[in-house]
Amino acid sequence: MNTFLGIGKRFLQQYYEKTGHGVFLKIQRLRKEIPKDESNTAEKPTKLAIGVEGGFQTDEKRFEFEEKTSIVVLPQWYEVPFPSDKISDQLQLSATMILMAEDAAKQEEAAAMAGTWEGEKLRVSKHAENLLQLEPAKKIPPSGWKCERCGLTTNLWLNLTDGSILCGRRFFDGSGGNNHALEYYQEVKYPLAVKLGTITATSADVFSYDEDDMVEDPYLAKHLAHFGINIAALEKTEKTMTELEIDINQKIGEWDVIQEAGSQLKPVSGPGYTGMRNLGNSCYMNSVMQVLFNIPDFQRRYFSAADQIVTNAPNSPSSDFNTQMTKLAAGLLSGIYSKN
Ligand SMILES: [Zn+2]
Repeated sequence: MNTFLGIGKRFLQQYYEKTGHGVFLKIQRLRKEIPKDESNTAEKPTKLAIGVEGGFQTDEKRFEFEEKTSIVVLPQWYEVPFPSDKISDQLQLSATMILMAEDAAKQEEAAAMAGTWEGEKLRVSKHAENLLQLEPAKKIPPSGWKCERCGLTTNLWLNLTDGSILCGRRFFDGSGGNNHALEYYQEVKYPLAVKLGTITATSADVFSYDEDDMVEDPYLAKHLAHFGINIAALEKTEKTMTELEIDINQKIGEWDVIQEAGSQLKPVSGPGYTGMRNLGNSCYMNSVMQVLFNIPDFQRRYFSAADQIVTNAPNSPSSDFNTQMTKLAAGLLSGIYSKN
């Protein structure tokens, strides 16, 4: 209660001997499993996003925690439950303030909440405002389109400069078009095209070849009117790029593979079998750390030598690289944190 450093029980005696600080606030967290809500059936995502409504869903929260607090005094390991009137006002106040502070668990929860991905926001194309539209304008019929080069009747893109209708890219799985719209752009450099069949009064897939991305065209109604197309009269007949991406993500089963859906996984626990939680895009770092701590040299340096590192730690271990690596090593390799 002097330095406000958090220390696990295993290193408490050592810390006391080193510093002479012997009064601690003990926080014990008891894990309780939350019963699974079986009525919650998985719905097909409608949005290329993670963890938000309509997107791909991550695992629900499985546990909740109950906290028990007490004051522990070394070297006798004398323990008094907190709160209690046996504790001095100053200590009472100090402990209360610590418990009120935003603790790591709460921050982690907040990070998990933030661990969602809303999908990519479209940017307004820089070509939209002053787009060149050739005169005399072609008149485009409201349906019955086909690729001017290969006759394909689906996955067609209308170039907003000259009204040419050409097929889209071939996808890596062989579906899609014959790349004619892209090839045409490389010849003429007319930057914007809209996917026919995705146009409704409120939305449409517009691609900018120059910006190499899906974009927003705030003047789309005007750009289409140039070719005699009344945006309000069009119906959606083709899948949008987002819908196609969702299909592909589901078809390839990438999401299910990541989640290991359907496989009977045997839970393992103990030394070396402790996992790390994803704090929101930290899974890459987690996997690197797990690889490193499987290397015997790393285990010797940071796990076998833990006592020595903790004993020799500077007064501010939270900013000491060795101490923090040791802490991580203990977490991953001791097995204390993955009991079943
Ligand atoms: Zn074509």
